[in-house]
Amino acid sequence: MEKPTPSDPTIFSKIISKEIPADIVYEDDLCLAFKDIMPAAPIHILVIPKKPIARLIDATESDKALLGHLNLVAAQVANDAGIGDKFRLVMNNGAKAGQSVFHIHYHVIGGRSLQWPPG
Ligand code: AMP
Repeated sequence: MEKPTPSDPTIFSKIISKEIPADIVYEDDLCLAFKDIMPAAPIHILVIPKKPIARLIDATESDKALLGHLNLVAAQVANDAGIGDKFRLVMNNGAKAGQSVFHIHYHVIGGRSLQWPPG
């Protein structure tokens, strides 16, 4: 399995600590949601845990409640953005699957017609 560098702080750690700005749409004790800087659709929001987990495959049983929470927050931010009945939730796992930031994140994508399969 390809080896990420989970101990390296990512750009998302700096967004969580507010060292760098982001267009934050939701925050609570466990997670943060902000607009993607290079949106792939009219609505493109990232939902991340404050706990740094490099890839979904690195999550453990102890992260179960956190992962469930991220799903519910993703649905809430989609609803708040007006796409509650028409959005896609994507998490890339590993560089070969398109992951570029090694701090898990859901992409909440919508506001245009979405094709399937995504390719
Ligand atoms: P992935 O390729 O699945 O790891 O997704 C990483 C996403 O993070 C990409 O869609 C980037 O556009 C987005 N991104 C990277 N840096 C920032 C940033 N500073 N603020 C908001 N989104 C970012």
